[in-house]
Amino acid sequence: MPRHFTLLLVLSAMLFACTGIQAEDHGDKAIDKVKVAIFTGQNNHGWMMDTPVLEDILDDHKIFDTTVLQTPDRKDPDKAAKWQAFKPDFTKFDVIVLNYNGEMWPDHIKKGWVDYVAGGGKVYSFHAGNNPFKGWAEFEQMIGLLWRGNKDGKRVYFDDEGNKVVQDEGEGPGAGHGSQHAYVVDTKDNEHPVFKGLPDQWMHAKDELYHGQRGPALNMTVLLTAYAEPKTRGTGVHEPIVWTIPYGDGLIMTNVMGHWWKNQKDGPALACAGFQTIFTRSIEWLATGKVTIEKPDDFPTKDAVSVRELKPFEPLAYIHVPGVPGSDPMASCDCSPQTQPGFVPAWVQFADMLKPLPGESTAEQR
Ligand code: ZN
Repeated sequence: MPRHFTLLLVLSAMLFACTGIQAEDHGDKAIDKVKVAIFTGQNNHGWMMDTPVLEDILDDHKIFDTTVLQTPDRKDPDKAAKWQAFKPDFTKFDVIVLNYNGEMWPDHIKKGWVDYVAGGGKVYSFHAGNNPFKGWAEFEQMIGLLWRGNKDGKRVYFDDEGNKVVQDEGEGPGAGHGSQHAYVVDTKDNEHPVFKGLPDQWMHAKDELYHGQRGPALNMTVLLTAYAEPKTRGTGVHEPIVWTIPYGDGLIMTNVMGHWWKNQKDGPALACAGFQTIFTRSIEWLATGKVTIEKPDDFPTKDAVSVRELKPFEPLAYIHVPGVPGSDPMASCDCSPQTQPGFVPAWVQFADMLKPLPGESTAEQR
């Protein structure tokens, strides 16, 4: 009992401390902060790790006020009721970062999403955010190029002269990527506010380079491309990396950078100073139409990556350890090791299960 009482006292003190910090934050809000929501909770990737890291990257700039919208877990036995009770008000946010690659949303969330974007909302699709929702026409129109087979839409790439090439359904490869590596990205529009003042070419840290993405590809403005070298099992053409598509009064920016698998404790793609810079500048631009975030001194060059140390973070969810009855590699739980012994951060389990193979076979990864 005395020990519990002490714990309560500590918790109360922490609660007061938190309240104090929040009040101070509100005091700072004379300048309207950009309200950002990261939508996550299901993803074949390490959403429970990369989400707090994306939050940290935004929080380095005082202009963002970031919230996480976390869906019910895919394996939650009560998920049907929880989905019905999950009613995020998208209109409260200037930009929604889509870090979700899971089951189809219930109709009320789909409707809220379409209404939000059509009514002027802004979306930033992060890495596997272009993977889900096959057959949801409005979503596929918003993203333009998705992780789909080669019969599921057009393909867009660029030749060595920078000319746009459109392949029809059934022609050329479907969605995939070669082995992970650092690669040079090329700016298609160096007058665009997000890319103005940055080098036309720079080396992105080790990541997947998506190729053969498919979809309706309507009204796309491609802003960044990368040459997918055959020696890393790429397509030998310049693949779209960042692009925008208007939808109603809204705008969607897709960036396929940012691979962080569940067996990775650290994510070099997110530690890249170049990724962090274009990510934060893009969110600011989507929200305000302007960019005030300056090019940092450690921005990568064409010849060298620039990787920052990520701050320590608390994963948003934990995973069953192997051998626990009923455990599932994809199952996660919104609980902590403190309250639920037997649950561990995803990478602890996956590090043992998914050792890198010679030549880095990534066939089952997206
Ligand atoms: Zn990936």
